[in-house]
Amino acid sequence: MTKDILSLLPGEIEQELEALGEPKYRAKQIFTWLHRGARDFDEMTNLPKALREKLKSEYRLYRPRVLKKQESQIDGTIKYLWELSDGNAVETVVMSYKHGNTVCVSSQVGCRQGCAFCASTIGGLVRCLEPSEILDEVLFSQIDSGKPISNIVLMGIGEPLDNFDNVMRFLELVNHPDGMNIGMRHISLSTCGITERLDDLADRDLQLTLSVSLHAPDDETRSKLMPANRGRGVRQLMDCCRRYYEKTGRRISFEYAMIDGVNDTEKHARLLAREAKSVAAHVNLIPLNHVEERQFKPSTAGHMKAFIRILEEEGVNVTVRRRLGSDVDASCGQLRRKMQTGKDKNTSE
Ligand code: SAH
Repeated sequence: MTKDILSLLPGEIEQELEALGEPKYRAKQIFTWLHRGARDFDEMTNLPKALREKLKSEYRLYRPRVLKKQESQIDGTIKYLWELSDGNAVETVVMSYKHGNTVCVSSQVGCRQGCAFCASTIGGLVRCLEPSEILDEVLFSQIDSGKPISNIVLMGIGEPLDNFDNVMRFLELVNHPDGMNIGMRHISLSTCGITERLDDLADRDLQLTLSVSLHAPDDETRSKLMPANRGRGVRQLMDCCRRYYEKTGRRISFEYAMIDGVNDTEKHARLLAREAKSVAAHVNLIPLNHVEERQFKPSTAGHMKAFIRILEEEGVNVTVRRRLGSDVDASCGQLRRKMQTGKDKNTSE
């Protein structure tokens, strides 16, 4: 079985080259080529032919294929469905903001967390993505769209903390100065709150932005919406958030999808304010995206306004996420889902 060279860091490529009897300095050349998008060793024209042949026999390279690409007519958001080497597919979204282009990447094929409002989890978890596959989402979205990527959010399909080692390695790769060189402060990681892993993440002391998908401040509501809360609970999650903030000095963001009649009452707002203040978190409200298979509806504009007013009164830092790409199914798992159920056949490119 050939090895996945794109998942290796420069120091590891050096070791591989040494074992092959090749000079170590070639590692930087190879890494640079790979992270500019070369997916055939013959493109690496500053390497001797004999070395390229050796590399071909030792390592595999794959260029993800665009299965589908949709561009929003409203705001230019681009949504990709990529085909992976084993035929599975994942979604990546490129959003343009004033401060630059942000790519939203998937970390798994499917998800095992089972959140009641989310489309990504409907078919369960198929498999974790390799570091190279997550990197390629960023790289080929940039190459294909022609939009230089300055920010990354790990908010696509999958639970990043359920693929901890590969996600940590992806971060090292994408952050590397000889690669895409995207700074940790330009990267956000979103989790449904796998508390054991949150402590591991705090130990890494990274400068990334942590988003916790809270969606409810009380165990009763949260456990109904998010199975990850069962057996852990909001208290344990808040303790983790506090430790994370103390260790890294980075403010956490709470994601809160407003669901009509479920988590949008005054009681929820007051409790949310208390929890947010206890860990100095910022609250990011998201109007729920309707998912065909799910019964939930977004909160009304009136309820949302009242909710925001309470949070502000309580002194919480709150923002409402702009909805980008609403005409291209640009939320979690919807495009892959449509492909799976065959509902999208007519519009495939
Ligand atoms: N598993 C991670 C990251 C992927 S989901 C997590 O749970 O955070 C990215 C964000 O989209 C999460 O906050 C998730 O709760 C939210 N989300 C999922 N389905 C949604 C929907 N239908 N409407 C609004 N937000 C949704």
